[in-house]
Amino acid sequence: MDTKSEATTTFLTRPYLPPLEEFLPYLAQIWESRRLTNGGPFHQQFEEALREYLGVPHVCLFANGTLALITALQALRITGEVITTPYTFAATTHALLWNGIKPVFVDIRRDTCNLDEEQAEAAISPRTTAILPVHCYGNPCAGERLQQIADTYGMKLIYDAAHAFGVSLAGRSLLALGDLSVLSFHATKVFNTFEGGAIVCHDAKLKQRIDYLKNFGFADEVTVVAPGINGKMNEFQAALGLLQIRYVHQAIAARLAIDRRYRQAIADIPGIRCLPQIDGVTPNGGYFPILIGADYPLSRDQLYDVFRRNHIHVRRYFYPLISNLPMYRGIASATPANLPVATRMAAQVLCLPTYPDLAASIVDRVINILARGH
Ligand SMILES: *Cc1c(COP(=O)(O)O)cnc(C)c1O
Repeated sequence: MDTKSEATTTFLTRPYLPPLEEFLPYLAQIWESRRLTNGGPFHQQFEEALREYLGVPHVCLFANGTLALITALQALRITGEVITTPYTFAATTHALLWNGIKPVFVDIRRDTCNLDEEQAEAAISPRTTAILPVHCYGNPCAGERLQQIADTYGMKLIYDAAHAFGVSLAGRSLLALGDLSVLSFHATKVFNTFEGGAIVCHDAKLKQRIDYLKNFGFADEVTVVAPGINGKMNEFQAALGLLQIRYVHQAIAARLAIDRRYRQAIADIPGIRCLPQIDGVTPNGGYFPILIGADYPLSRDQLYDVFRRNHIHVRRYFYPLISNLPMYRGIASATPANLPVATRMAAQVLCLPTYPDLAASIVDRVINILARGH
């Protein structure tokens, strides 16, 4: 490995970790007790701590966000067709395919990059059983309107909230929306347990079903109530999560300081714009997307290459659109003509590096490259 260039390369994100010495007592306890998984003490404590931190009634921990998504669809017995966004990470839509469900793609809104709620209503067919929106970059979906549509047509509403950890709108957590929400604690997310995830739900019966499903369907030693999966979070992940919660507030504050710095500087750069900040939102600073306009001297991909040459790995989130991947592009709703806004966003977007300990000097280098175009 070329350690020199490794050391000087800036990545989109750098996982946040607490001081190692603070984690060692947790590890000692796991070694001592030999409780490694299956709902051990750290699992219980972390669930409780998350419930409190997020201000939600029920949390079901998972080994990762994708298993949580797949299980969420199982828990609500979703079948047939589900309306969703093409402008997301592959796991959102893959979770539908793993359940034998057909995704129906709907275009996104310019301001939030989220599923357009009015077009979602127009896409409903007799086979539609649910809507699966994503709070893209932590921007809130139109929760009230989507709930109204779901209620009118008797459909479930499941949020992919992988970007929305700690985000609230008018003081209310986004995780309070819909029938349930799915979180990811992957290394690249605002809050991480190396790998990890959770389902947030609002009633104890649904939590019980989800907890059975994530443990092969076992209700007790001799009773298996459903063909469940192994989605359990282990004690190592849970212990780390418990410790990470103590630091997440300061990690988010550091991200938001970088967000302000980028936003201020980019306001003065012709041809580049940021997504608007939405009134009443308490954000988490998880992503910093910019849109490269036709009036900027470089194309998006040329700018991407300039950053690469400067050892700064910016990312084109979300390009390509999920609807353009080989396993989806044959679906009628996947045609680019049906998704003009998403298609344009995917061609213009670039996510800039942001993470709690990103040095101010690198933020300045990023801004200088944007301003000079080389
Ligand atoms: C990260 C992510 C996931 C998947 O979560 P994992 O924990 O990596 O399995 C799902 N949806 C979105 C939108 C994501 O960003």
